[in-house]
Amino acid sequence: RADGIDDPFASLNPAQRAAVEHDIGVAPADARPLLVIAGAGSGKTNTLAHRVARLITSGADPQRILLLTFSRRAASEMTQRAGNVLHKIMGLRGGQAPATLPWAGTFHSIGARLLRDYAGRIGLDDSFTIHDRGDSEDLMGMVRHEIGLTRSEKRFPLKGTCLAIYSRVVNSRETLALVLQSTFPWCSEWEAELKTLFGAYVDAKQEQNVLDYDDLLLFWAEMAADEELGKHIGGLFDHVLVDEYQDTNRLQAAILMGMKPGGEGVMVVGDDAQSIYSFRGATVRNILDFPKQFAQEARIVTLDRNYRSTQPILDASNAVIGAALERHAKTLWTDKISTVLPQLVLIPDEAEQARWVCKRILEHRESGMALKAQAVLFRTASHSAALELELMRRNIPFVKFGGLKFLEASHIKDVLSVLRFAQNPSGRVAGFRVLQLVPGIGAATATRLLDAVAGSAEPLRAVEQFAAPARSGGDWEQFVALFRALRAPGLRWPADIELVRNWYLPHLERMHDDAQVRVADVEQLARLASGHGSRETFLAEITLDPPEATSDRAGPPLLDEDYLILSTIHSSKGQEWKSVHVLNVVDGCIPSDMSTGNSDDIEEERRLLYVAMTRAREHLHLVVPNRFFIKQQAQMGDRHVYAARSRFISPAMLKHFEESVWMTADTRQSRKPMPESVRMLVRDRARNAWK
Ligand code: ATP
Ligand code: MG
Repeated sequence: RADGIDDPFASLNPAQRAAVEHDIGVAPADARPLLVIAGAGSGKTNTLAHRVARLITSGADPQRILLLTFSRRAASEMTQRAGNVLHKIMGLRGGQAPATLPWAGTFHSIGARLLRDYAGRIGLDDSFTIHDRGDSEDLMGMVRHEIGLTRSEKRFPLKGTCLAIYSRVVNSRETLALVLQSTFPWCSEWEAELKTLFGAYVDAKQEQNVLDYDDLLLFWAEMAADEELGKHIGGLFDHVLVDEYQDTNRLQAAILMGMKPGGEGVMVVGDDAQSIYSFRGATVRNILDFPKQFAQEARIVTLDRNYRSTQPILDASNAVIGAALERHAKTLWTDKISTVLPQLVLIPDEAEQARWVCKRILEHRESGMALKAQAVLFRTASHSAALELELMRRNIPFVKFGGLKFLEASHIKDVLSVLRFAQNPSGRVAGFRVLQLVPGIGAATATRLLDAVAGSAEPLRAVEQFAAPARSGGDWEQFVALFRALRAPGLRWPADIELVRNWYLPHLERMHDDAQVRVADVEQLARLASGHGSRETFLAEITLDPPEATSDRAGPPLLDEDYLILSTIHSSKGQEWKSVHVLNVVDGCIPSDMSTGNSDDIEEERRLLYVAMTRAREHLHLVVPNRFFIKQQAQMGDRHVYAARSRFISPAMLKHFEESVWMTADTRQSRKPMPESVRMLVRDRARNAWK
C-alpha cells in the first residue's frame, strides 16, 4: 500500500507475514492447518495477534474466532494487540472501533462456557459448580474416607497425591497402571484401591453436580468426539488459534481434532524448547505431531529472528538450550548488538541475594528503567520470601504472580463456598464448609443436613425444614434467610455478593484475630464480582483464573502505580522485561531437588532455565547464592545447604557471562567461610544425587 509507514503489517518479516497471510481469501472450510514453531521472542504471539486482525479485515466474524491462550491475562493481552492492529487499519480507513473477541480465553474457561451451554445435551445439570484444586482434594479426601481407605491403610497416598494421579490419567489418556509406573512408582502397590477410589470419586462428582478442572477438558473432548455434537461445536468457529501449544496435553489435542478433523482454520504456535508443563500432563508430542494429525497436512512456518533480546543474552540462552539431550533445531539471531553480557553473580546466601537484587533494581530505576520494566523470577513460589521482606523493608512496591494464595485463603474459600452452595446445593464440599460456619453446627449436623438436601427435590425446603440444634438459634435463622435470598429466582448479581458479605463479616470477626486483613480481601472479592455479569460466570472465572495478587502484606499496588513483578518461571511464560533477575540458579533449585529423578525431568528443568533467561530484553542477572535454605521431609527438618552453580551452566558456557562475586563487609566479618573441601563435597553430592 502507498501509506506503508502506517501499515501495521509492514513491520512483519517475510516468515511472519507468510503465517499472517496463510490461506487468507480461501473459504474457512478449505483453509489448511498451520503450525508456527519457533524459538523464544521470535514473534509467535505477535504473529498470532496480527493474524487475528488480518482475518477480521478480510471479513472473518470475530464471534466465530476461538482464541486459546495460556492464561486470562494472555488472552486479554492478545485481544488488545489484535485490537491495536485493527485500530491502525481502521484509523487509516476511518472505520468504526474494532470488535472484541468474545471467544478468547483459556481452554478451561472456554470449556466451562461451552459446558454451560450444552450441559443438557450431555446429561449434565447446568447449575453445576466447578471445584478448584483445593475443593477437588477435599472431595477426594471425603470419598477416600467414605470407602474406608483412610483408617485401615495408613500408608495410602495422601489425597493430594491421589488427585494428582487421577488428573494425570485423565489428561494423558493413559492407563492408571502406566501412569503409576512412569510417574508415581511408589504408589504402584495401591493400583486396585486407587481404581476403586477413582470410580467412587467420579460417582461423587456426578451425584453432586460438580466438575473439577480436568472435567472441563474431558467433557469438552467428549462433546468434540461425538459425531453430531462435535460437528456442531466445531461449526461455531471458523478459526481456532492456539498460543503456547507446546504446553497442551493429550486432551487438548483431542479437542482440536474433534472440533476440526480436517484441521481447517486451525493455527497453533509454540516452541518445543519451552515445554515446561509435562509435570501436569502436557506433552511436547502435540506440537511435534501436529503437522500430520489432521486429515490434511499442516503447513509449517519457522521463525528464526529474535526481536526481544540482545545478542549476548541470546548467545547465553542458546548455549544453555543447545546442551539439551534432545535437539531443538533452531538457533536464533538478532540485530540487537550490545556489549553488556548477562551477569552471573556469586553471593554468600539468600539474605544477601535479596539485598543485592534490591540494590540492582534501584540502580536500574535510577538509570531511568521503571520498576514495571523489571522482573524477578524464581523456580518455586516460596523462593521469593527473603526478597519480599527486603522489598517491603525498602518500600519497593511489587506484585507477585504464580502463587495461588488468594483462593487458598480460608476466608475467600468461605465466601465462594456460600455462593457455590447456593448455586448448587448438591455440592458437598462447599456445603460442608458453609454449614459449619454457623455457630453450633458441626460435622455431624452438616452431614445430616446435606443428606437431607441430597434426598430432596427442593433444596430450599429441605434447608428450611431442617431441625437445627437449638444452640444455633438466631444464627441458623440468619443463614436460612441468606440461603433463601440467594436461591430466589431472578438475576441480582452483584447484589448477591453483598448479601453474603454482610452475613459473613460478623462470623469473620468472631473467628479470626486478624479479621481486618481478611475483611480487605473479602472487599476485594466483592469488587472483582462487580466486573462479572452473573454469579455463574463470576464463580467459573474466579475458580479457573484467580487473581494473582493478594491484599495481605503490602496491599495490591494501584494499576497506574509503578511496581516490580515477582513471578515463578512457570507463570512468566510469553512475557518480557527490560531487566530480569533469576534467583537461586543453583543445583537443588534449577534443577529442583524434587525433579532430580530421571533425565526427562532434568531436561524439563533445563528448558525452564531457558524460558527464564529468554524473558530478558537488555539485562539478565543470574544469582547464585552459595548457601541456601531448603525445606525438607518432615523428619529431617529444614536446613541450610552449600550449593553450587546450576549444572546447566557448564564451565564452557562461562564465556557468555560476566562473572562477579559479591561479598559484603559484614558477611566477611561475621561468618567464617566454609572450608573449600566441605563445599566441594556437598556440591559433588548434590550434583550426583540424581544419577
Ligand atoms: P515467547 O516464545 O517468549 O512466547 P514469542 O515468539 O511469542 O515469544 P513475541 O512475544 O510475539 O514472541 O515477540 C517478542 C517481542 O518481539 C515483542 O516485543 C514483539 O513486539 C517483538 N516483535 C515481534 N515481531 C516483530 C517484528 N516483526 N518487528 C519488530 N518487533 C517484533
Ligand atoms: Mg509468545
